[in-house]
Amino acid sequence: MNIHEYQAKQLLREYGAPVADGRVVTRAEEAKTAAGELDGPLWVVKAQIHAGGRGKGRFKEPDAGDKGGVRLARSVEEAAEEARRMLGRTLVTHQTGPAGKQVNRIYIEEGADIERELYLALLVDRETSRISFIASTEGGMDIEEVAAATPEKIVTFSVDPATGVSGFHGRKVAFALGLKGQAYKDCVKLAGQLYKLFVEKDVNLLEINPLIVMTDGRLRCLDCKMNFDSNALYRHPEIMALRDESEEDPKELEASKYDLNYIALDGEIGCMVNGAGLAMATMDIIKLYGGEPANFLDVGGGATKEKVAEAFKIITSDPNVKGILVNIFGGIMRCDVIAEGIVAAVKEVGLSVPLVVRLEGTNVELGKKIINESGLDVIAADNLSDAAEKIVKAVKAAKETN
Ligand code: GDP
Ligand code: MG
Repeated sequence: MNIHEYQAKQLLREYGAPVADGRVVTRAEEAKTAAGELDGPLWVVKAQIHAGGRGKGRFKEPDAGDKGGVRLARSVEEAAEEARRMLGRTLVTHQTGPAGKQVNRIYIEEGADIERELYLALLVDRETSRISFIASTEGGMDIEEVAAATPEKIVTFSVDPATGVSGFHGRKVAFALGLKGQAYKDCVKLAGQLYKLFVEKDVNLLEINPLIVMTDGRLRCLDCKMNFDSNALYRHPEIMALRDESEEDPKELEASKYDLNYIALDGEIGCMVNGAGLAMATMDIIKLYGGEPANFLDVGGGATKEKVAEAFKIITSDPNVKGILVNIFGGIMRCDVIAEGIVAAVKEVGLSVPLVVRLEGTNVELGKKIINESGLDVIAADNLSDAAEKIVKAVKAAKETN
């Protein structure tokens, strides 16, 4: 689960990490009072969306101004004006995709005078099963670009969980970032604070980009992204409360209510599959035959008829879906249950795109019988590649007739 920058900074603050004072607003009328509570002479007005690259992004609406989602202001009035221009508008960054994201919250912060921009992150390194620190002097830019062009500028090391974090790790980070004096001391402290936060709150990824050295020589976390382990949220109600459902894909949100593993993609062939491995294989084979999957969907091992029907409805609600491929291997899951779910869903919401069904395994004959007798316009397939070939062809044919 992701949270907003202002929420991440509140957590940083609770653990003693250096962040600027700030206020979050959801309505333009609140912006002036909020900015007035902060000290100038510089204010930073920041769009809060679950995506990075805001500074370099642009708004879809011309009246938002030809600037990104991070704006500097020299007065309370200017800060309020920038907040008003961004609220309710759509920000497009390299992480939002071309559709962009609507800005519903603005964070106004006391501005800093920047001497240097650095990068610092903590993440769970699955290879070593440890928490790793990643530090780079090249802050403020995409770390992926730094990794590709100048990998020697990234320093990575992991912490042994048995001994935990110590001053040694903090000094290692401070040295890697080329820090001296007060900034060095701040950094040693910060490394310990971040590690503690990371462990106690079950964080997956904590990224500070940029971490800055200010002209007065102190450190400050200027931006922060945090992602939490969803499997551990049950023990952190205070983190769960930070969830902003308006930032999530509505189809994914709906799917999570029914415990379906669903991820929306950009293609045009909707997939309903049981088992993550089979779902991946199905997506691969769709691509092999020249199609593009519109989603990843694993209905799970023990799905009920209702769950299957919901899954089907979520797929058909996507206007990009031009064809559906159902690929089920009945192990624990019975093919007749899948068939009943599909028939029930089609009866309820209708079917306007080609549907290919490949069933195999437990109760396969019964499943096929239910579909055949339902009167649905279904294209039957015998195996995985036959199914993929048929749906790609059917989508193509449907496009040509339209
Ligand atoms: P992102 O573009 O979504 O990563 O947003 P950031 O919070 O990282 O801000 C982007 C850039 O805006 C930073 O790299 C800084 O160059 C600039 N910026 C943000 N806050 C301040 C500030 O307090 N003072 C100054 N001078 N620049 C800032
Ligand atoms: Mg940033």
